[in-house]
Amino acid sequence: MATPERYAKILRVLRHRQPTLTVLMDEVNKPHNLSAIIRTCDAVGVLEAHAVPPKGGPLASFSGHTYEATSGSAHKWVPVHSHTDAVSAVHALQGQGFQVLATHLSQRSVDYREPDYTRPTCVLLGAEKWGVSDEAADAADHNIVIPMFGMVQSLNVSVAAATILFEAQRQRLAAGMYAAPQLSPEALDRLAFEWAYPDLVSTYQERGEGYPALDEQGQLLA
Ligand code: SAM
Repeated sequence: MATPERYAKILRVLRHRQPTLTVLMDEVNKPHNLSAIIRTCDAVGVLEAHAVPPKGGPLASFSGHTYEATSGSAHKWVPVHSHTDAVSAVHALQGQGFQVLATHLSQRSVDYREPDYTRPTCVLLGAEKWGVSDEAADAADHNIVIPMFGMVQSLNVSVAAATILFEAQRQRLAAGMYAAPQLSPEALDRLAFEWAYPDLVSTYQERGEGYPALDEQGQLLA
């Protein structure tokens, strides 16, 4: 059972969630990087993340114990949807109305602060060793880069993710997108129940029943 304080926190967080901001992690395979990216997603208000799991690696299953063990508790609040390959994932997200910004260390990339992050936006992040593939970068709407002036060519992927996502947060704060819920009332109620009563979710789903209403303190009305 959720305490009133816990339920108030759940509502506060859900009212700041940004369903039109997400990331696509293309074979990011180091557990601490995955963990850090998901925690940043939670902090910025990303509702759901996307990933192409590393082929054949220990993290090939994003729903398994390894992933959960490495992302702390953040994975509970930011579900990760799995895709088979980056190009089809980019097309699927574009089909849902997202502009896809590929982080790509190339001449044609624009400064990461240039795009309009108030638009539905997915940030495509590449694998630690080889980055975003040329095919996925070509499929994206724009390529972006964090300017580098040091001896080292690139940032750690989780640092790059945080830098870009907090620019998105800055723009969205300025546009008032955290001031009013971005989730529909129905989605907000559904998620509030699922976060407050995770143990009851499967019971209602197996019965094919809608969730019961909650009062303002998060207590079951039925
Ligand atoms: N050798 C790889 C390459 O050429 O792309 C380096 C990959 S880097 C270690 C891992 C990921 O971090 C990149 O694919 C990108 O998502 C992100 N990244 C690192 N530095 C970045 C920067 N300066 N601008 C944008 N993204 C960056």
